[in-house]
Amino acid sequence: MIRCTTFSGKTVAVFGLGASGNATARALLDGGADVAAWDDSAGGREGAAKLGIPIVDLMAADWSEFSALVLAPGVPLTHPEPHWTVEKAGAAGIEIIGDVELFFRERAAHCPRAPIIAITGTNGKSTTTALVAHLLRELGHKVEMGGNIGRAVLTLAPPASDTVHVLELSSFQIDLTPSLAPSAGVLINITPDHIDRHGTLDRYAAVKERLVVASDAACIGVDDAMTRAVAERRIASGGAVFPFTCGKGAAVIPRLYAIGTTLFAHETGGAYASSIELASLDGIGTLRGRHNTQNALAALAALRALQDQLDRHGSPMNVWRPEAMQAAIALYPGLPHRMEEVGRAGAVLFINDSKATNADSTEKALGSWERGIFWILGGKAKEGGIGLLAPYFPRVSQAYLIGESAEVFAATLAGRVPFQRAGTLEIAVAAAARDAARSGEREPVVLLSPACASYDQFKNFEVRGDRFRALVQALIGVPDRS
Ligand code: ADP
Repeated sequence: MIRCTTFSGKTVAVFGLGASGNATARALLDGGADVAAWDDSAGGREGAAKLGIPIVDLMAADWSEFSALVLAPGVPLTHPEPHWTVEKAGAAGIEIIGDVELFFRERAAHCPRAPIIAITGTNGKSTTTALVAHLLRELGHKVEMGGNIGRAVLTLAPPASDTVHVLELSSFQIDLTPSLAPSAGVLINITPDHIDRHGTLDRYAAVKERLVVASDAACIGVDDAMTRAVAERRIASGGAVFPFTCGKGAAVIPRLYAIGTTLFAHETGGAYASSIELASLDGIGTLRGRHNTQNALAALAALRALQDQLDRHGSPMNVWRPEAMQAAIALYPGLPHRMEEVGRAGAVLFINDSKATNADSTEKALGSWERGIFWILGGKAKEGGIGLLAPYFPRVSQAYLIGESAEVFAATLAGRVPFQRAGTLEIAVAAAARDAARSGEREPVVLLSPACASYDQFKNFEVRGDRFRALVQALIGVPDRS
């Protein structure tokens, strides 16, 4: 737990009392600030009050008493329209920040060289963040991981020179962090997303670019046009930059690149440039697919860039050991619900990709096997449906439709993929497992990759994925430890 000392003796308004808001309020109180906390939901207020957090009706409060508003990242700052607390803070002329800002101020005040890796991008943030943390642990370092993944940033141990903090940051969090200054910042990719919250694609991209500009060393994936432009601007500015690519013929000379699934680093120091082979992802089930090649490069670039900064500041820490990468990557356990291997029964592999709530994500899953896919899909359909997945339909042996989207998806699949209306996940898993076992395929895959939100049948994608895992484990005789 971090104590926020930079508002000691002042009063801070905190809005949004979920896990991160509660942690923020506690961290401020423990650091000597007064807190006026509020949430629009009574449940949120009651939960916070139980933690000893002072609840103050911010609608009725005198805002001239507050030094800052700390906003939970899910609360709209600008789009679709500013939250009412944002209006009030603006009228009172006080700053609006997030918990990650408090973290960086604490670091600036007490340990400004503490190594921090911050990771953003439209896709692959959690995978890259978890992989960086895993690699650092495998190399024997102390690691704290949090932010948009796992634990709220202020519940982590304080910044320290012998510990690497690995933070996943959403664009909302970056927006609320004016003092952002990671040792190494990673921008994986930018594709249209969350435009509703940022107004335009350009503004969304500009928020992501802030992380690059704010980083001592910046790692930038150069496989899409927007991030390539960011990399070119960074290079022109003379800042330290580690471009990475899993594409062909990158316009920017990469420092990390992939040929197929083999990852290389390109070193430019001294009289000669040279390339070193770092690792092959062949056979690593937790990093299947081209997108994970990009994520693995992003993770390695982060370590390479951090080492640059550690060397520059005379730190004895060694986070860049190319000879150790293959073994460390091979042990990456993966994240739940993202192409998670949940078991095997004979030749049949069971994969939980419940996090795939849209067709873009499911495309990555279907692209990971050439054939023999027994695909469970459906739920609350997203705009555009599954039409864009048509090129992958020949890889699907049979589809099993669940949830509300069944009829819409049936219309898309008709005549192209054999399918059945399973209705529920229970029926789908049983049918897919049976069909896969009888299929005669060499490695049939029962894949839950719904391309849909879950909340017509489940609380969220985690509950859906947990249910799938439990059903599979019951079916194949593995005890459910979840
Ligand atoms: P995020 O944290 O950014 O949401 P995750 O690492 O949790 O990303 O991955 C979520 C899903 O996004 C994956 O299941 C996969 O379908 C897709 N994905 C992951 N990495 C990438 C990438 N580098 N490029 C495109 N899509 C990706």
